[in-house]
Amino acid sequence: MIVLRSIYQNHLVFNCLCGHVGKVAVKDLMLKYGGDTFVEAVEKAARCSRCKGKNITSTQIIYIGSSELAMSSSHTPKDNKNL
Ligand SMILES: [Zn+2]
Repeated sequence: MIVLRSIYQNHLVFNCLCGHVGKVAVKDLMLKYGGDTFVEAVEKAARCSRCKGKNITSTQIIYIGSSELAMSSSHTPKDNKNL
């Protein structure tokens, strides 16, 4: 059993029976369910945003990393005169 707190940097990917693949940041799930919630419990509670069903066939824990953050901090404003 894995608690959300231990994988807070990751995302969960839910594969639905209808073919829809949903990706949710664990941080967002922690806000909703709390950090001590098990991934398995989230999987049971998850509802597909496309077919509105609860037919999750598999769940994956993926790591996206902080490239988003790195990109925003690498941005140099055009009006920066200190170059
Ligand atoms: Zn679905």
